[in-house]
Amino acid sequence: MNSLEQHDPEILDLIRQEEVRQKNKVRLIASENYVSAAVMAATGSVLTNKYSEGYPGKRYYEGQQFIDQVENLAIHRAKELFGAEHVNVQPYSGSPANLAVYFAFLNPGDTILGMALPHGGHLTHGAKVSISGKFFQAESYSLDEKTGLLNYDSIHEKALSCRPRILIAGHSAYPRILDFARFREIADACGSLLLVDMAHFSGLVAGGAHPSPVPYADVITTTTHKSLRGPRGAMIFCKQEHAAAIDKAVFPGLQGGPHNNTTAAIAVALKEAATSEFKQYAAQIVKNAQVLAAALTDQGFNLVTGGTENHLMLIDLTNKGVTGKIAAKALDQAGIVLNYNAVPFDPRKPFDPSGIRLGTAAVTSRGFGAEEMVRIGEWIGKVVAAPDDNSLQTRIREDVATLCAAFPAPGLEHLH
Ligand SMILES: *Cc1c(COP(=O)(O)O)cnc(C)c1O
Repeated sequence: MNSLEQHDPEILDLIRQEEVRQKNKVRLIASENYVSAAVMAATGSVLTNKYSEGYPGKRYYEGQQFIDQVENLAIHRAKELFGAEHVNVQPYSGSPANLAVYFAFLNPGDTILGMALPHGGHLTHGAKVSISGKFFQAESYSLDEKTGLLNYDSIHEKALSCRPRILIAGHSAYPRILDFARFREIADACGSLLLVDMAHFSGLVAGGAHPSPVPYADVITTTTHKSLRGPRGAMIFCKQEHAAAIDKAVFPGLQGGPHNNTTAAIAVALKEAATSEFKQYAAQIVKNAQVLAAALTDQGFNLVTGGTENHLMLIDLTNKGVTGKIAAKALDQAGIVLNYNAVPFDPRKPFDPSGIRLGTAAVTSRGFGAEEMVRIGEWIGKVVAAPDDNSLQTRIREDVATLCAAFPAPGLEHLH
């Protein structure tokens, strides 16, 4: 940071302010986390200077003596940790990873079937505004209106009627464990490839707190920066029979040179994720989510599906007479950062929906446990009950900062 001080104090100042924000606020955004100082160091290394189009041993540029070893380590660790036959660690992020999978197996106009965006699916699973919805025949399945749960019989029916080339399991906002065996059965009945997008919960899979899709899926995509607690990037796992198609689709199909600094940071994160501490971390994420869910339910909050089995929960605020956006903005003022989110069958618009989404991956990284979850639940209750009360928000923001000061976040220890 010394060089930034000399060369660009304007950017340095903004980075410092963001550090303080991340240090002092309770971060409940379900897709975010705190990486370790080691992951950060690899991300900020000279590996960013190197071009290495191709794969280890088959590059288009010279000077790969060390880059090949970095990528091979990342590959080795990823395969070991997840028990997968093949992995590609080069996708720039989760969205390009999914696009590469489509490019590997689909022609324009082919059918994909994924979870509807307003029900918890991702943009890249066939949303109309996304390239995945424009270039392919995108069909979607919905949640059960009464329970908010996946209805596997209706997914089966839908898949039989539209015969997707790719059936997608995975989500950005579904608080329950997925039944991969059942998805496999449906894919087999329809002659579909099964793609599992575990972007959100791959850290739980790595730590043994969520069943693994590896025995069931043909292809698995994941981001590396959510519950897995690595740098912003992605990986694609697949059976050996699809390895060549996937690798060709990532490069030269979709991307140019891999981001080697990110690859190194992924390797570091994978080493961390293979430890017993990470196993405890993954289990604690789920415990914390369940304690927070119970604390919120006690205060009359309406949780979609009635609770959670993973790291996230969705609250339908309709009974509280507050919209998701108003609640999220008031909570941010009170030092509790989350996002407004559509709930299944939301009568409101996506930009102004009825719910909020909360996740416990980041707060668990800084060492929060059950006691802190209960306090956070109480704060959320107070703020949502009086979203216009600025002095309440100020008081809670101070309490939040005091709590955070007692739990140094990974990567931000130097501020404590
Ligand atoms: C976050 C997410 C992605 C996309 O990841 P980006 O890195 O933001 O492109 C893809 N799929 C799912 C299910 C996600 O939650």
